[in-house]
Amino acid sequence: VWSNCLQVIKENIGEQSFKTWFEPIKPISLRESVLTIQVPSQFFYEWLEEHYVQLLKKVIYQELGSEGRLEYSIIIDRGNEANKPQTVNIPTKKIPQAVVNSYRPEQNFIKSPFESKTIDRNFLNSQLNSAYNFENYIEGDCNRLARSAGFAVANKPGTTSFNPLMVYGGVGLGKTHLVQAIGNHIKNSDPNKFVLYVSSEKFVNQFIESVRTNNVQDFANFYLLVDILIIDDVQFLSGKDKTQEMFFHIFNHLHQSGKQIVMTSDCPPRDLKGLEERLLSRFKWGLTADLQSPDFETRMAIIQKKMQSDGIDIPDNVVEYLAYSVDTNVRELEGVLISLIAQSSLNRKEIDLELAKQALKHIIEDVETEVNLDFIQKTVAEYFQVSLDSLKAKTRKKEIVTARQVAMYFAKEFTSHSLKSIGYHFGGRDHSTVIHSVQTVSDLIDTDKKFKVSIQELQKKFKSKAG
Ligand code: ADP
Ligand code: MG
Repeated sequence: VWSNCLQVIKENIGEQSFKTWFEPIKPISLRESVLTIQVPSQFFYEWLEEHYVQLLKKVIYQELGSEGRLEYSIIIDRGNEANKPQTVNIPTKKIPQAVVNSYRPEQNFIKSPFESKTIDRNFLNSQLNSAYNFENYIEGDCNRLARSAGFAVANKPGTTSFNPLMVYGGVGLGKTHLVQAIGNHIKNSDPNKFVLYVSSEKFVNQFIESVRTNNVQDFANFYLLVDILIIDDVQFLSGKDKTQEMFFHIFNHLHQSGKQIVMTSDCPPRDLKGLEERLLSRFKWGLTADLQSPDFETRMAIIQKKMQSDGIDIPDNVVEYLAYSVDTNVRELEGVLISLIAQSSLNRKEIDLELAKQALKHIIEDVETEVNLDFIQKTVAEYFQVSLDSLKAKTRKKEIVTARQVAMYFAKEFTSHSLKSIGYHFGGRDHSTVIHSVQTVSDLIDTDKKFKVSIQELQKKFKSKAG
């Protein structure tokens, strides 16, 4: 009967899934429409139930009719009992007895003796992407604390005072990369540790699903097995009270058993609106570290590293140009690199400054606000009746110098470019020149009425354009 079932299953799922999840199953007995199969672990059973229950129901129905039932026999490896496999019979859709006993809602929950049971950790999927490691996580002023705290945690999970470790920062600044690197580091140095990476969104969805299907206990028990819990983007838990409550229990349990918890958020904990106070206060037990936008040197290093690992050569002036021009976040920087590489191979052109400028134009246009550097330079040049090129040239003619200073002043006011980047776009001047220009313009506004009016007129143009 089982081999007939397998035949049908094989036709319905991928080869790899079949190998992983169905080949290890042993049929044990068939008594009065009850088919018993043996699975290697608790987790295995849960996985089958979660992912293949419909398929299994279907094949059992086909083979055994409406009376047909499936029972699982799970090999529980009790570690201290010298690996003697022990078999328990579990009817489908019911929670294994061992699990039920260990689960108590409310207070006792925390003291669940669940750890006494070991499971075959080879079957656990950490949901880690091995591409994220410390090696390719570039260090800079923007991430030094978070990175070194992360590294400490990765080397001694659960035993440093950084528990929980909370990393926060804006989008694309490397939160996910860093926490995944922690997970991979731990996994590589101790494969027996059950590291689990989960996005808060997935956590919420799993929880809701477990409520819907009456499997909340399974859900909780699964998370209590974790040695290192990495939960990404906790801001997503905000306003989800029931999920927060569950997370609170899991958090307490893991923390009390010395398990490491790593979290990320897009803002500092104090700004996490819609999160319960008792949860927020837990977050403060450990260390909170932020990620800032990468500075110029870090951006250079990131570009170089990426290109090196892709085996692509790009000239230094292009690296510099990209690092200057894209100063928002690393993800955007990567986007530009990818597009540059794509354009280079599509057009069969070497990567040079010209191609880089083209690639950037294509990408930044819709990202930048309407009032971008180009617009400011054009508007100011027109207003002062000087040529656009002269703003970027070396000339020190008085009216050009003034126009240039005004344009820098507005660049600082209306764009998010750094002083360095502004200087760069004005013919490669350094940031102190920009500071000086902004200062000069401010002084003139205070002392020269006519000049002040000009500035106000220009300001109106930019403001109306910026909306
Ligand atoms: P977040 O989770 O904060 O939104 P990610 O971790 O997804 O950001 O990072 C976005 C991209 O930038 C990823 O591809 C990541 O590898 C890369 N990245 C971010 N910070 C660094 C860094 N310091 N060094 C190298 N790559 C980085
Ligand atoms: Mg992320």
